[in-house]
Parts: sequence; structure tokens; C-alpha cells
Amino acid sequence: MQAIQEFSIQEPTGAGLECPNCGSRRIGSRNHGRKTGGALGAVAGGAAGAAGAMSGAELGATAGMVAGPVGAAIGGLFGALMGGLIGGSAGCAVGSKMGSVVDDNLLDNYQCLECGYTFSS
Ligand SMILES: [Zn+2]
Repeated sequence: MQAIQEFSIQEPTGAGLECPNCGSRRIGSRNHGRKTGGALGAVAGGAAGAAGAMSGAELGATAGMVAGPVGAAIGGLFGALMGGLIGGSAGCAVGSKMGSVVDDNLLDNYQCLECGYTFSS
């Protein structure tokens, strides 16, 4: 029974690390910064994407103007889509990158699974 319980525990991500408090090698990684950063980045990127969508829509509409009102509408829609998509995904990537830097350098990113002690590497 004991062995089965041991195996059901999530594989420690902080391999090679030891708990400074109790010496256990079962260390988990918390990655709070990465998750928060990714979410924040997506929001910021979404906002930037919205701004990009506006200018994209404007550009598309201006370019589409050559082909008349229908061209302007299609161009505007396409420009807005492109601006929003690119802004959102780029923001999320940048945000999670920054978050992982925060994780590695600022936060107590590792947690002992034995005693709950948190520490940075
Ligand atoms: Zn510990």
C-alpha cells in the first residue's frame, strides 16, 4: 500500500534539489510567476491586439477602398482579425517568458512536498 501511494505522487519537477528545511528530495515547482505572467501577457497582448486591430482595420479599410465599399469592409475585417490575433498570442508568449524569469529569480518557486517549505533555487 505504501509503495502505491508513493508512485501516485506527482513527479517532482525540481530534480536534484533538496529541501533546506528537512532534506527531502521530493521538491515541486510552483511556477506562479509563469502562470500569472502568461495570463497578464495575454490580457496586455489582447489590449495591444485591440489597438492593432483598430489600426489593422483602418489599414485594411483604406486598402480595400480601392475595390469599393465592399472591399473596404472586407479589408477592415481582415485587418482587425490579424491585429487582434497577433497581439494576443505575442502578448501571452512575452508574458509567460517574463513570468518564468520572475519565477527563477524572485519568487520562492520550489516547494517541499514533505513539509511544505518554499524556497528559491
Ligand atoms: Zn521539507
